[in-house]
Amino acid sequence: MRIGIDLGGTKIEGVVLDNAGDTVLRYRQPTPVSQGYDAILFSIVDMVSGFESKLGQRARVGIGVPGAISTHTGGLKNSNTVCLNGKSIKRDLERKLDREIRLENDANCFSLSEAIDGAAQEYAVVFGVIMGTGVGGGIVCNKTLHAGPQHIAGEWGHNVLISNGRPCYCGKRGCVETYLSGPGLIYDWPLDQPITAQQLIIKADSGDKRAARLVNVFLQRFGQALATVINILDPDAIVMGGGLSNIDHLYTTGAKEVMRHVFNDEPRTRLLRNKHGDSSGVRGAAQLWPAD
Ligand SMILES: [Zn+2]
Repeated sequence: MRIGIDLGGTKIEGVVLDNAGDTVLRYRQPTPVSQGYDAILFSIVDMVSGFESKLGQRARVGIGVPGAISTHTGGLKNSNTVCLNGKSIKRDLERKLDREIRLENDANCFSLSEAIDGAAQEYAVVFGVIMGTGVGGGIVCNKTLHAGPQHIAGEWGHNVLISNGRPCYCGKRGCVETYLSGPGLIYDWPLDQPITAQQLIIKADSGDKRAARLVNVFLQRFGQALATVINILDPDAIVMGGGLSNIDHLYTTGAKEVMRHVFNDEPRTRLLRNKHGDSSGVRGAAQLWPAD
C-alpha cells in the first residue's frame, strides 16, 4: 500500500492507493496554517497513523508540497504557505514517521499522476502544466519523474516571456507566471471592478470587448510561452492542470497559438485536459513510490 499526502495552503489531503492504483482510503482536513509548522507536521503524522491503523499495516509515504525544494539545504523555498519556507520538512517527517519518505513539489506530483494512469498514460514524454494562482510544470519520461539536479526541471513559469515586463515575486520581471496565472489574466482589468479569472472568461464569451481583448492576448502569450517548452523538450503530450485548465479556449484557440509558435510546420504535440482533476496531486504523491 502507498499513502499519498498533498499538503496545500488550505487543506491537507491524503489517499491510500493499492497496487492497481485504486483509492482504498481518502481523508481531508484543513491545514492548521495559523498554528505553525509543528502543527502541520503533527497533522500529517496523525493522518498517516490513522490510515495505517485502518489498514493494519505500515505503508510507504509520498508527500506533495507547495514550492521548491532546495537541493542545497533540503529545505523548502518559494512556498506560499510561508511557515514552511526554510524548513527541512522531509527530514523532520522521516524522523517522526521513522522511515524514508519521498517528497516532491505539487506540479511534479500532478505530472507524474497524469503520466502514470491519467490523461497522458499512453505517452512516453509528458509535460504537466499547472496554471492557477501560479504557473508550474513537471517532466515525466517513461513514467519516471525527471526533477533535475537543481530540482527545477519543468519550471517554465519563471522563463522570461516579456523582457522588463511585470514584476514577479522571484525577483525577475516579465516571467510567464505573471501573465499566465489567474492574477496574470485579470492584471489589466480595472482595479475598481473586482473580477475573477473565471468571470472574465464568461464576460468575454458574452461579447464584452475589453474582456475578449484580454483573453485573446492571454491565449497568444500562452502559445508563445508553451512553444518554447515544446521546442526544447518535444513532449508527446502536454497535460493541463490547475484552476485555469478549465478554460475551454486553451484547447482550441490556445492550442492553435501554441502550434503557430512551434518550430515545426506539422506540429503534433497533444494538448490534453487532466483526468484526475483535484486528485492528481495526492495520487502522484503516492505514486512517487512504484507499485509492488
Ligand atoms: Zn518569476
